[in-house]
Amino acid sequence: MIAIVMVGLCAVVLYQSRQDALDHTRDTLRDIALIAQRDIERNLELYALSLQAVVDGMNDPEVLALPPRLRHEVLFDRAASAQYLGSILVLDAAGNIVIDAGSDTPRLGNFADRQYFIVQRDNPHVGLYISDPYQSRLRGGSPSIALTRRLSHPDGSFAGIVLLAVNLEYFHNLFAGLSLGLQGSMSLISTDGAMIMRQPYDPHVIGRNIRKASTFQRFMSAPEGSFSETASIDGTRRLYWFQNFPHAPLIIMVAAGEQDIYAAWRRRALTIGSLMLTFGSAFIVLSMLLGVQLRRRMRAESELQLLARTDGLTGLNNRRSLGEILDQEWRRAKRTKSMMSLLFVDIDRFKAYNDTYGHQAGDDALAAVARCIAGNIRRPADTAARYGGEEFVVVLPDTPADGASEIAEKIRNAICDCGIEHAGSEYGRVTASIGVVSTQPQTDDDLTTAIRAADEALYKAKATGRNRVAQ
Ligand code: GH3
Ligand code: MG
Ligand code: MG
Repeated sequence: MIAIVMVGLCAVVLYQSRQDALDHTRDTLRDIALIAQRDIERNLELYALSLQAVVDGMNDPEVLALPPRLRHEVLFDRAASAQYLGSILVLDAAGNIVIDAGSDTPRLGNFADRQYFIVQRDNPHVGLYISDPYQSRLRGGSPSIALTRRLSHPDGSFAGIVLLAVNLEYFHNLFAGLSLGLQGSMSLISTDGAMIMRQPYDPHVIGRNIRKASTFQRFMSAPEGSFSETASIDGTRRLYWFQNFPHAPLIIMVAAGEQDIYAAWRRRALTIGSLMLTFGSAFIVLSMLLGVQLRRRMRAESELQLLARTDGLTGLNNRRSLGEILDQEWRRAKRTKSMMSLLFVDIDRFKAYNDTYGHQAGDDALAAVARCIAGNIRRPADTAARYGGEEFVVVLPDTPADGASEIAEKIRNAICDCGIEHAGSEYGRVTASIGVVSTQPQTDDDLTTAIRAADEALYKAKATGRNRVAQ
């Protein structure tokens, strides 16, 4: 039980530390997402301001009337040369470049087919529009997204757009600088499902629409949150953290591979778990061995105790044990003021028996006599003991004189009925004489007095012809 409780506790602690690893990773993912989101948002805000400055300038006739070089400086502030900023262009209603931040004479190009152009042309109220990724035609196909705003004539009709292209390298470098573990991934996705950037970087994934992926459905279900799922892109199980941008149609997602999350935990769990199992099993084995040894020892002790109290030849209590029993019963009889009887049994002419039949036969006869004595005492409290040589004592607590004589008579008869041949006896067989004493001990009475009385009764039985009971 103790081993099971120990292993159980260990399992609980390990499970909790696994949960801790997960919680810790979730916090880290949230922090990374927040840092990236704030960086992107701040930059988008600056780009949007630059864009708005161009729109405002284009709506100002005074600015438009300026010579091209001055107009250029008014329309495009220093932000136009910022890192990762692709190009800032003004397109007319037909999609042709009319003003180009990159050069005083606008480069040639028509973007009437671009989604960001069509959206602004067909809808006067879009405001700031962030496009899906595309490959820039002016900058050698470098992947970009565009921020656009519509230009309108005073009557509200479409006059063109202002476009600010952001190189996707910006997101790439931002993501690459964040540490996400071996299986970690990070994505910036537009709310219509277009993949703007993904780390690990794969040019084929950029621009892909993942609207139908189950992970994307989850991103759209709440402003922010976390879940575990197997990615559709690479089949790896990850813990995801996502959050929707509060002021832009973008979602940032950061994920860590479950293998990375639990790697350290797994190593620790393996060490602690196997140590715990080893200790637990060792504990069980040792406890069982100890239990076996303890039981064996207890058995040996009780056997020893029995041996120490028993006479080897007859199996009756020995003299030492008789002393204890006599003391105990004597005190009890005093306390309860009850009668107690003692029988002194002595085999008749046993010296002659030994001389005739040998010592071994004598021992056998002794054992037979002991069996006769033991077989005729019935109450649990009655005790028979070998007093010494061929003498026995029977202690009969709560037994008055007539009851004691009756038992003595039974014993004498039983010994006689054994019919053990004894040529040296006047009865021709082994017999015994029994002295009986019954007394109700008073407070100051001594046990030795009772023993002497029993001895005297035995002497009387011997003196009056043997093979009899005397009081
Ligand atoms: P009595 O009828 O007067 O009792 O005659 P007895 O010969 O029995 O006399 P006593 O009781 O004095 O004799 C004791 C004899 O019992 C002495 C010894 O030969 C024998 N004896 C005592 N202990 C043992 C024993 O352990 N084994 C054997 N075989 N004989 C024993
Ligand atoms: Mg004797
Ligand atoms: Mg004798």
